[in-house]
Amino acid sequence: MKSIVFIAAPAAGKGTQSEQLSKKYKLPHISTGDLLRDSANDNSELSIKIRQIMENGELISDELVTKLLVERLKKSDCKEGYILDGFPRSLEQALLYEELLGKKPNYVILLEIDKDTAMKRSVGRLSCPNCHSIFNTLLSELKPINENICDHCNTTLIKRKDDNIESFEHRYQTYLNTTLKVVDYYEKQGNLYRIDSSKSKEETIAKIYEVIDSRHYD
Ligand code: AMP
Repeated sequence: MKSIVFIAAPAAGKGTQSEQLSKKYKLPHISTGDLLRDSANDNSELSIKIRQIMENGELISDELVTKLLVERLKKSDCKEGYILDGFPRSLEQALLYEELLGKKPNYVILLEIDKDTAMKRSVGRLSCPNCHSIFNTLLSELKPINENICDHCNTTLIKRKDDNIESFEHRYQTYLNTTLKVVDYYEKQGNLYRIDSSKSKEETIAKIYEVIDSRHYD
């Protein structure tokens, strides 16, 4: 069983690196942001409220996020492990993870990046609403082959509503004020690995593979 958790500032590359790991280790990539976007896709009052909170770059309640996550982790494709992108985002969520699953994640990967680079990645980002692949109009290595079309499933790409400067600022502050406490928590427990994510995605993934392959869990 391999449970891999990504922690990072917004747009630091969690989604891109999780996709790569998912292919290499044949484990599902579970993004709480995607679970929320998929669950809030109608015009009900709750969906509208969820979308508003996300567009403002604020956090959704622990109750809703953990409910969606636990349902997803019960599926059979998670038996051998999973790659978790976007959870836990607060100390409370790290404690809930242990309470609900009865264990800690095996590997917690912290992707480190400076704020300006993360902001550029956010502002240029395009996402596939179908297969959740990520592209970027400002970075040549991440440009889609055909403008606005997903390379993998031919779906029209979308720009997330929270990929603007104001929302980025808000999400970045939440990261500093709330998510960094999770980093301290795991660092003290010895399962946190710091990876420089400001270089190319190939350099970053190579360093992540080294970490994952250096330790084995049953
Ligand atoms: P992401 O796709 O990881 O960038 O997340 C997009 C947005 O989804 C965040 O800005 C939050 O509004 C919400 N979100 C994702 N994961 C969580 C979480 N673990 N707890 C609370 N809100 C979350």
